[in-house]
Amino acid sequence: SVKEGGRHGFRFHDADVEADLHQRVTLIEELHEAITKQQFVLYLQPQIDTHSCQLVGVEGLLRWNHPEKGIRGPGDFIDVAEDSGLLLDIDGWVLQDACRQMRAWHDQGVMRQATISVNLSTLQFKTSDFESNVLAALGRTGLAPRYLELEITERSLAERPDEVAAVMQRLSAKGIRFSIDDFGTGYSSLQYLKRLPVSKIKIAQEFIRDMMSDSSDASIVRAIISLGTELGHDVIAEGVETKAQLEFLQQRGCHLFQGYYFGHPQPASELTERLRRVAGSDGKWPVCT
Ligand code: C2E
Ligand code: MG
Ligand code: MG
Ligand code: MG
Repeated sequence: SVKEGGRHGFRFHDADVEADLHQRVTLIEELHEAITKQQFVLYLQPQIDTHSCQLVGVEGLLRWNHPEKGIRGPGDFIDVAEDSGLLLDIDGWVLQDACRQMRAWHDQGVMRQATISVNLSTLQFKTSDFESNVLAALGRTGLAPRYLELEITERSLAERPDEVAAVMQRLSAKGIRFSIDDFGTGYSSLQYLKRLPVSKIKIAQEFIRDMMSDSSDASIVRAIISLGTELGHDVIAEGVETKAQLEFLQQRGCHLFQGYYFGHPQPASELTERLRRVAGSDGKWPVCT
């Protein structure tokens, strides 16, 4: 249940189902408005290859610029958006905006080989027009398919493995890439790794967070790196915040990273400035060791 103050400033008791429902309804109304008034913003976070010090990817992360509360992250609204079905519209916008942004960077000459990734919800895979929506977003923006990466969770894979696999095979044949997000937190991961067209697996942040003090987490991280690498996938560590974590992972064979240490998610205008400076300095990302 939602524990923050409601619209009228008072706090709802957890057990107060009616107030909770009221707050939910209010949030749904606000989300409808957010869609029509275009209050969503895509924040972008860099992914770095420390072998080459190049930017290899950018992940698009949804933010809601709420008229009163300011910038809100997905944790504040994504569950309600998903339950109400509104997430489908929102994710459609995200897909389109990510493609548009990448195309703009290409046109500005500040981006080379990097991919742009978006997070897919489990809802999206269930819609019959998912595939055509992806292709339409590429068509409208003129972005070549190889620059687009779709992040899926083990949850989507587990729910309808055959349909999801078929969609992935078809999109992958067109050049679109796939990554598995939060890898290690879902089910039967090994099946997917073997038979699906996955180019990248993302080690879940929860393993990275404690790996330096928790030896089980360290073992899991090491196992994911060697499994992924041996099966021919790129393995990227999420949520890397410190140099110590970076070195710990590098010693275990990881060279792809995403996390605050390399850069926070930021609005396109800010990242564009950074990309301009990078393009002017041999294409090397400023934080690499
Ligand atoms: P995710 O896809 O696993 O994204 C990574 C999350 O970790 C992001 O949280 C990012 O801001 C955060 N993060 C990145 N580096 C660090 C770090 O070094 N330390 C810490 N503590 N956190 C870091 P965010 O943006 O709040 O997104 C949360 C989740 O919401 C995402 O997890 C993804 O599952 C979902 N999400 C985000 N954008 C979208 C979207 O457009 N559509 C859908 N369906 N889901 C989205
Ligand atoms: Mg993600
Ligand atoms: Mg993740
Ligand atoms: Mg997540």
